[in-house]
Amino acid sequence: MTYKQLDPYKKDILIIDDMADNLRVLSSILSREGYNVRKALNWQMAWTACQTLLPDLILLDIMMPEVDGYEVCQRFKAWELTADIPVIFISALDDVFDKVKAFKFGGVDYITKPFELEEVLVRVKNQLELRSARLEVLTLNAQLEQRVKQRTWELEKALQKLQIEINARQKLQNKLLDMAMHDALTGLPNRILFIRRLEKALNRSKEESNYQFAVLFLDCDRFKVINDSLGHLVGDELLIAISRRLQACLAPEATLARLGGDEFGILLDSLRDIRMAIHVAEYILQQLSKTFKLSRYEVFMNVSIGINWGNKDYDRPEYLLRDADTAMYRAKDLGRARYHVFDPAMHEEVTKALEMENDLRRAIERQEFLVYYQPIISLKTGKISGFEALVRWQHPTNGLISPIDFIPVAEETGLINAINTWVLQSACQQLRIWKSHPATPTNLTINVNLSAKLFLQPNFIEQIDQIIADTQVNPASLELEITESVIMENNNEINIILQQLKARKIKLIMDDFGTGYSSLSYLHIFPFNALKIDKSFVKRMQDNQENMGLVPAMIGIAASMGMTAIAEGVETQEQLEQLKSLKCDFAQGFLFSKPIEQKLVLDFIISAPQW
Ligand code: C2E
Ligand code: CA
Ligand code: CA
Repeated sequence: MTYKQLDPYKKDILIIDDMADNLRVLSSILSREGYNVRKALNWQMAWTACQTLLPDLILLDIMMPEVDGYEVCQRFKAWELTADIPVIFISALDDVFDKVKAFKFGGVDYITKPFELEEVLVRVKNQLELRSARLEVLTLNAQLEQRVKQRTWELEKALQKLQIEINARQKLQNKLLDMAMHDALTGLPNRILFIRRLEKALNRSKEESNYQFAVLFLDCDRFKVINDSLGHLVGDELLIAISRRLQACLAPEATLARLGGDEFGILLDSLRDIRMAIHVAEYILQQLSKTFKLSRYEVFMNVSIGINWGNKDYDRPEYLLRDADTAMYRAKDLGRARYHVFDPAMHEEVTKALEMENDLRRAIERQEFLVYYQPIISLKTGKISGFEALVRWQHPTNGLISPIDFIPVAEETGLINAINTWVLQSACQQLRIWKSHPATPTNLTINVNLSAKLFLQPNFIEQIDQIIADTQVNPASLELEITESVIMENNNEINIILQQLKARKIKLIMDDFGTGYSSLSYLHIFPFNALKIDKSFVKRMQDNQENMGLVPAMIGIAASMGMTAIAEGVETQEQLEQLKSLKCDFAQGFLFSKPIEQKLVLDFIISAPQW
């Protein structure tokens, strides 16, 4: 084999023949055509040549000593690197050439000796071109495959990314939806979700005649006291504890929701009869009567529960809840920590109250209110010591309306403030007018009832000062009556205001004493000048001939605390005698006089009655 410079751009042909003549002839033909030609005399040399450089084409003589052409071909085919190099067999005409065998061993063509110049070139050229084409196809295929692979990979990547994004969005959306439907503090469903569940239940009851459900509306009793005295964090902690305990009272299929503030809603599903709803309410009340052990405090908190029987005749789920709410208010009115079942008559009452609210607004604009005055008698002198101002509403069509009928609505709607200030103003004005008359005792007082709402107004004290300045009334002759229950619910704020009133020498009277919840220790805190013993106790004096009920004790309490005692609702001479014997300071009641119209008061004073 000769080593000459190999041209890398030329096709390389390896000729294997044991006859040097043949090699020379073929080599010169092909070299002239521009091929790189290498020569090998036997397998050994051919093998070495291939290891140096892989040829593009092999011309292989069949008849060779030691290793013949078939065998050489087989060996090339067996080696991976040479397997696809085309092999053209060379055979002499007189050889016993087996074409079938040649092809079987992997040959692609054959040429015969003596060589036909043209034939050799054509066959060589064909095979080289074929191989080039095949190689090109292979590379193209490989490239294509690579590209497809790359694309597939990119696509998969993009798809994965997309899926991750979709998942993240879905999660976010679910979270937002969840947040919109749940209460952040307790994690319970909120009002929106509760109404949706109610709607579902309502629709189901319209379709299935034997499907029944109930709605419970719960409101914590005096929750504000906890919030105001222990702070909002404790309030929040308590709300969470309440929601846990409520949840524990319920079957898993019931819906417990926080409707806002200290209000909860419960939807009881698939009930057999209303008693089941009542059992649940009773169980809740029983469970809530146990203390709540919070991180720093132990507190009691009960609820008032309104129950509304799910009725398919409701048009909207909101109405179901509204009526449960109304029943809850009734439970509160009846003394709290209890349940009440809604009945349609309540709805009528609520509607009436709404009507009254509208009427009241108009009444304030048109000044339809009147003040009546009831005398208060000093039991020491038997003479008039003052008057209590009692408001009435002169309704254009319904006549004179008692404060008992409109004050609760006025308080609930905040309209009470306008009414209260007006009464205060006109009572003070009247006092000035009466005092200018010589028949009027110089120390005559005027008593005015005030609702807690007015007390808690931020500018209450300024309003009082304004009225005193406008009417030029002596503050010492003004007595303000506040009911006991009002004071108990807002004791901190109220006390601050009471002290300010005291500083102005205004007198303070605890009204309806005995009907609230005050413990005696509370009485010390507030600067009251007098206790007004509620008429219900005065009434019961006669039933208890020997001990006169609680009245003696109440008068005793007043005396021991340096307060005066006023008995109200005195209707009989007997009651008067008893009160005198108990050294009660003042009395008022029908026995002396009913509340009288303003224009008749002065005549009454002038008549100077004495008991
Ligand atoms: P109150 O402060 O306990 O007023 C006494 C009520 O008892 C008055 O009813 C009076 O007419 C009535 N009364 C007086 N003597 C007797 C008696 O011998 N027997 C009986 N059975 N009752 C007697 P009235 O005027 O209907 O007032 C009811 C309530 O309305 C008052 O109870 C008071 O809480 C409230 N009120 C009246 N006027 C005002 C006001 O201007 N502002 C506020 N916030 N509340 C008022
Ligand atoms: Ca009163
Ligand atoms: Ca009273």
